[in-house]
Amino acid sequence: KDLYGDSRQNSDGVEFGCAAERNLLTSGMAKTTAPFTEAAPLGAGLKPSGDANPVFAPMDGSTKVGTVRFADSETARLAVENAQKGFEKWSRRPVEERAAAIDKVGDLLEANRDRLMTILSLEAGKCLTDGIAEIREAVDFCRYYAAEARNLFGEGKLMPGPTGEENRYRYRGRGVFVCISPWNFPLAIFLGQVSAALMAGNAVIAKPAEQTPLIAYETAKLMYQAGVPEDVFYLLPGEGDVGAALTSHPAVAGVAFTGSTETAWLINGTLAAKRGPIVPLVAETGGINAMIVDATALPEQVCDDVMMSAFRSAGQRCSALRLLYVQEDVADHLLDMLEGAAKELSLGDPRLPSTDIGPVIDEEARDNILSHVDDMKESQKLRYAGKTPHGKLANGSWVAPHIIELDKAEALTREVFGPVLHVVRYKAGDLDKVLNQIAGTGYGLTLGVHSRIDATVKKVVDRLSVGNVYVNRNTIGAVVGTQPFGGSGLSGTGPKAGGPAYLTRFALEQVVSINT
Ligand code: NAP
Repeated sequence: KDLYGDSRQNSDGVEFGCAAERNLLTSGMAKTTAPFTEAAPLGAGLKPSGDANPVFAPMDGSTKVGTVRFADSETARLAVENAQKGFEKWSRRPVEERAAAIDKVGDLLEANRDRLMTILSLEAGKCLTDGIAEIREAVDFCRYYAAEARNLFGEGKLMPGPTGEENRYRYRGRGVFVCISPWNFPLAIFLGQVSAALMAGNAVIAKPAEQTPLIAYETAKLMYQAGVPEDVFYLLPGEGDVGAALTSHPAVAGVAFTGSTETAWLINGTLAAKRGPIVPLVAETGGINAMIVDATALPEQVCDDVMMSAFRSAGQRCSALRLLYVQEDVADHLLDMLEGAAKELSLGDPRLPSTDIGPVIDEEARDNILSHVDDMKESQKLRYAGKTPHGKLANGSWVAPHIIELDKAEALTREVFGPVLHVVRYKAGDLDKVLNQIAGTGYGLTLGVHSRIDATVKKVVDRLSVGNVYVNRNTIGAVVGTQPFGGSGLSGTGPKAGGPAYLTRFALEQVVSINT
């Protein structure tokens, strides 16, 4: 039991070191054959229209994973209108009924694990360890928010007050919530937003990223199967203009967004320009995440943790390490170790257990990351550039791991969303300067510190307003209910996903005072 008397368990994973478990997964996946999914807008009253666009796997650019018919602005308008009617019924359903449906979604995800894993690998380039972790996270979100809602929603809490008066504080749904998600966690973040908004009693319109509509579509079908009504949950695969049509609709009661800081600014502007109810925006955005390593740190541990933090998921995690500060006394030794470890990483078909790193999401992402590397090569020191796959995978969107040594931290001015680690040396007495530089980026998502000196750790943790700080470990893979996740400043508004405050932001507070 945790601090809150909570006895939930996180969902089961796969022991990749065990051949039997590994084989069970890969043989299950082999039964799912491409192309899988014909995605289209879903929800009561919506009809598929428009062209069926092919979706190709980023690992080779040619394996067809399915097709998608995108929604347009008119479909977005219709979905909001229909969802308003669904909201009236859903918000009045007892919380236990809503929670049972969302718990069931978690069960169905587990039952369909192998199929979902295959789609995650092909559509989003997820390696097995990453994909399984993502499915687990999605299951955990469902169960966590269902459990939280059972505690928070319902009759409400009696507040202290004078004799002869009953004061009850309670939460209820707000209306139609729009959930806009990114491609890098196309299942877990998509479903995390949606399950929270539904559990808080809202109707939901979800717009997944244009690169990953298929996994969202598969999940939406499981949600209907679990008992979420079709007039309460709508899926609108679409491009950014559909997102803009949704957020600008006057009847929308709130927006949950995860993606880049730039898009969050746009959405914030759209919501601010509306002359109507002032609605909440929950925005989870990017970061220039740093790790500080001093001379007392354990080099082998640091090396492992840096590899994991910078290169896992091809660096396409919001939490990924971008800027490594190393005390100059140990920098040469550590850089040698990092180069050696990076050489061991294997890039390839993400469905194979031997693959460490899959492709980046698409050609545009690849070109963007590589152009950053080219720019950096002009003025900074490129320490390591890995090799991309040949043969059948040669035409995929590949970026090999890169390690770039910077002459000063300020040379990195933006979030580079890929497997590029920047390293900068600092002098023993310059910790304050380092902390000021990190604070000066304006971001505050994740931070790592490796040190055996308690006072150093305390100083780093206390000084910076970073959402998730990791001490003597890697900086990725926050666990629902254990490490609630989210940043501050340019990295987001909070509240933290997978934490005790998240649901309340999707809900309306009401106090009913009765003269008895
Ligand atoms: P993105 O380009 O901002 O897109 C995110 C979502 O917003 C997509 O569904 C996108 O649709 C939609 N969108 C684009 N323009 C819009 C508009 N004007 N109005 C409404 N919606 C709009 O981000 P991304 O490239 O998918 O994701 C990577 C970013 O997400 C990185 O910065 C990463 O750090 C951040 N991220 C943060 C967290 C966190 O928890 N803090 C987690 C994961 C990712 P289209 O796909 O059609 O453009």
